[in-house]
Amino acid sequence: MCPIIPRSDQFIHSISWQSELSRVIKDVRGLLVYTGNQVSDIDGLDTGHLDFPLRVPQPYASRIERGNPDDPLLRQVLPLAIENQTVPGYISDPLNEANSNIQSGIIHKYQGRVLLILAGTCAINCRYCFRRHFPYQENQNSKPEWQTALDYIRQDSSITEVIFSGGEPLINTDKTLQQLTHSIADITHVKRLRIHTRLPVVIPQRVTADMLGWLTETRLQPVVVIHANHAAEIDDRVADALMHMRSRGITVLNQSVLLKGVNDTVSILKRLSERLFQAGVMPYYLHLLDKTQGTAHFDMPSTAAQQLLGQLSTQLPGYLVPKLVKEIAGEAAKTPLLALQ
Ligand code: SF4
Repeated sequence: MCPIIPRSDQFIHSISWQSELSRVIKDVRGLLVYTGNQVSDIDGLDTGHLDFPLRVPQPYASRIERGNPDDPLLRQVLPLAIENQTVPGYISDPLNEANSNIQSGIIHKYQGRVLLILAGTCAINCRYCFRRHFPYQENQNSKPEWQTALDYIRQDSSITEVIFSGGEPLINTDKTLQQLTHSIADITHVKRLRIHTRLPVVIPQRVTADMLGWLTETRLQPVVVIHANHAAEIDDRVADALMHMRSRGITVLNQSVLLKGVNDTVSILKRLSERLFQAGVMPYYLHLLDKTQGTAHFDMPSTAAQQLLGQLSTQLPGYLVPKLVKEIAGEAAKTPLLALQ
């Protein structure tokens, strides 16, 4: 891709990302007040105790259309009683990640890539999350324990890419991430560092000069995979933050999940791809929902998804059509699904 010059080279943000994290909305009624809705507007709302708590950063909440109970951004974070129902086929670990969680903080699923679980929390809790039941407590590493994880990478010369994941990896301080990045860069067979993150979308202030520094100051090629499901998630501040990453030569990709009631039409998916590209981001994956307990109400049949992809392919250039994929536990790669006309 050609280098893109950000609209502004200044980081002008009134509230730091840490302050935004400390004031995330954590209660359902507070979210409804913030978004101009009432409890009675939402069918099947869960206002009780939640095993998977509500967390919504205010920069994200500010993009929700006021007074619209069906807003697609609101629907991604709003807890519903239906999540508590048992639905056959929807289980706590549909990808059998327990099998590839080979030691604390490491998931080694695919050839050549290893994923580090760097945090057990996120800035935002997405109701459809496939890791909403993940045993984060068992994957917390102290600094000395991270040496064991680094030893694992050091001893396997087939590992060429390390992925910072979570939870939300960018919830860590830049200093911590800088130290870890430099340790990984010292392992000669690792070529790329990939970050799986939703923070630049939900709190764009997270893209700081320090973050761009540690991402680009080693010999590792940086790739940031953001996660946005709807064009309305990408306001001008988010687009600026994404442009800052691109302007530093970072490859920025997006992955989405196909969600009923959120982004299940051709026009919504088309707008998302076009908005991403305007912000210098390439659409990468469109995932079928992983069949996680509590998320069945978001699921779309694969045939309907393939038909959507077929129609999308007729309306966008090929490079703006994400790959529709399904993850099958135990498979050596994600399974691509073909477009149906
Ligand atoms: S940000 Fe990612 S890991 Fe965190 S809750 Fe959302 S989907 Fe799950």
